[in-house]
Amino acid sequence: MDTVLISEVGPRDGLQSVKATMLLSHKCAWLSALHASGLREIEVGSFVPAHLLPQLADTAEVVQHALGLRGLTVMALTPNRRGAQAAFEAGVHKITLPVSASEAHSLANVRKTCAQMVQEVREVVRLRNELAPSVKVEAGVSTAFGCTLQGSVDESHVLRLAEALAQAGVDDIGLSDTTGMANPAAVRRLFKKLQRAVGEKAGAAHLHNTRGLGLANALAAYDVGVRTFDSSQAGLGGCPYAPGASGNVVTEDLVFMFEAMGVHTGVDLPALMQARDVLRAGLPGEPLYGMTPESGLPTHFQSTTHSPLGPGTA
Ligand code: ZN
Repeated sequence: MDTVLISEVGPRDGLQSVKATMLLSHKCAWLSALHASGLREIEVGSFVPAHLLPQLADTAEVVQHALGLRGLTVMALTPNRRGAQAAFEAGVHKITLPVSASEAHSLANVRKTCAQMVQEVREVVRLRNELAPSVKVEAGVSTAFGCTLQGSVDESHVLRLAEALAQAGVDDIGLSDTTGMANPAAVRRLFKKLQRAVGEKAGAAHLHNTRGLGLANALAAYDVGVRTFDSSQAGLGGCPYAPGASGNVVTEDLVFMFEAMGVHTGVDLPALMQARDVLRAGLPGEPLYGMTPESGLPTHFQSTTHSPLGPGTA
């Protein structure tokens, strides 16, 4: 049976984009519920200065809770060396560094040019080798399919950037459609080129549903061999520095698509719906998206994943 890894980014990408700040206790309850549904990789927060993203100021405490969830890869976003050091000290298993393919987005997001960011990544890898050699370092190439600030982004530029990141020593390189501008043909083409450029280091597809193409793009990526997908429960998320960017691919819909195709996700849909209730309780009034949660599962739906909560609980 074919298997994909669903990497849940709601607690980071989602919570950084909503105005309200979720209480630490609610974040911990949500993470536990996501883990109980079978998710095995979660981006739990971001190590950035609290005045920039007050919603994620308690990431170190969130990491402490997440480290107690068995079998979970605890991931955090770190934009620079200082953030990476804090993440290593907190004990994360994996960090992800956003590296923008658009100069305009890079300057707005991290106040560095693309070249300066590659240099920063090189230093983060050096720090990792010194302080936390078992921690995996991912680079996510953001605005890989276009940018609201700059407009089109050259594919050749994305690939040169990916090669530079591979040389800088990261473990894998994903492509992010930060602003929801990708389409299935572009996804297919760019991931194939990425695989040719960096081989085994070609990583996750981070897709947004801004224009309704999230699932189509995910399927296109799957068709060319991508096996790790970022998504967020209830489609929470966007990018505070990319105007108009909203809505990650909805985890519930993505899991439904793969399970219905017979592709194993390890995620139990009824348990994932329970996690959605925990999210709703922690962010009252926030709009939650997703077609599968609204319609419910079809009768006779066969999942490849049985409830990790045990009989009678799903
Ligand atoms: Zn995103």
